[in-house]
Amino acid sequence: MITRNKGAEDVMPSESYIWQTVERAAANVAQLYGFSEIRFPTFEKTELFVRSVGETTDVVQKEMWTVKGRESTYTLRPEGTAGCMRAVLQNGLLNESMPQKVYYQISAFRHENVQKGRLWEFHQFGAEMVGAADPSADAEVIAFARELLDTLGLSEARLHINSIGCPECRRAYYDKLREYFAPYREQLCSTCQSRFDKNPMRIIDCKSPEDKAIAKDAPVITDYLCDECREHFDTLRSLLDGMGIAYEVDPRIVRGLDYYTRTVFEFISDSIGAQSTICGGGRYDGLISEMGGPQTPALGFAMGIERVILAMKAVGYDFGEPSVCDLYIASMGADESRRAAVIANSLRREGGFRVETELCGRGFKAQLKYANKIKAKYLLVIGQTELETGKASIKNMKTGEQTPVDLNSGFNDTFMNTYVADRVSAELPD
Ligand code: ATP
Ligand code: MG
Repeated sequence: MITRNKGAEDVMPSESYIWQTVERAAANVAQLYGFSEIRFPTFEKTELFVRSVGETTDVVQKEMWTVKGRESTYTLRPEGTAGCMRAVLQNGLLNESMPQKVYYQISAFRHENVQKGRLWEFHQFGAEMVGAADPSADAEVIAFARELLDTLGLSEARLHINSIGCPECRRAYYDKLREYFAPYREQLCSTCQSRFDKNPMRIIDCKSPEDKAIAKDAPVITDYLCDECREHFDTLRSLLDGMGIAYEVDPRIVRGLDYYTRTVFEFISDSIGAQSTICGGGRYDGLISEMGGPQTPALGFAMGIERVILAMKAVGYDFGEPSVCDLYIASMGADESRRAAVIANSLRREGGFRVETELCGRGFKAQLKYANKIKAKYLLVIGQTELETGKASIKNMKTGEQTPVDLNSGFNDTFMNTYVADRVSAELPD
């Protein structure tokens, strides 16, 4: 047998309803905040990611899945923002009224060390807002991510925010960083040695423990913000304060993608071990123009769904039961099972109930066992007598109570009434 690749996961029916819970919640909260779904391809020209994610980032230097095609070199998307902005630009969304707000649920691909919360193929829920420069947009995007995490039972996830300024304030900061790192230059990993000239802020983001130790006391960007960037950050903070959204200012987050400017943020969960960042985002005012579009402010976030689900499980989120069978129809004999199929189809179509019939030719006893196994709420038995007389009964599998039914007339109504009455009485106190 050929088996699954490492770094990829199957989702079985017993788990997929958990994914659906998250996806539905995400779509609902997106709707509250006025974000509409956007879909775009799984692969793009490699150049798109090199240009937007940034040449000195881990993603581009080490993690991309790239294939050479006939006409170009293509890369499986390692994140959503670049492809999303390419689609926004190419389809003229920038000509519409601003801001444009979109969200997506995608798979993404990164070739990195596989471990808990770190896969080759993973999934993201992402949201992007285009055309709003005001800090109120930053506050709304953060509030959206916060609301979604709260909805998913992850109020425990802590929000960290920072400002990494604009290219303007970064110039002075980069000089200070180079001054700081210069004595350690030879000790840095080879990737960071090449970052020293091009993008010294990346060194702060390095995962190597040696480099981390060196970077521990490096100067922080927040001390070098220009007046506009500082004001933007201060306003954002007061807006978050006003909304009652708790945060910690963390001058060490610089984010792993080069396109960020000013606001960056992460949500961190303490319940899932080392890969604890469940959501990351920020502003990227330079990206659209870098991609050949007009200068347009934009911002967004992406949530790692696998990590979100790990965290939900860790905090004991109640996912409820996957859909259970409302009615199982046991039958013996060809005519009886034909009748069962007709009743089942009618009740599905007219009543919206989940109905199952026997499809594997099991004996009667085995059918009853199966009805229990799939936790059917009601049981209907169609044997020869029931078929001939039309008189049968539906059995409430929990209480054992039997309700007489006429197979030839008003079956759907009787079933619906019984179902509703039982639900009402089950919810009433004794
Ligand atoms: P990390 O610090 O864990 O490497 P990142 O900064 O590379 O994350 P982003 O590019 O911000 O991650 O992606 C957004 C989110 O996607 C992350 O916060 C995380 O939850 C998730 N994510 C990123 N890479 C992976 C991966 N390889 N496997 C599973 N989830 C991932
Ligand atoms: Mg990473």
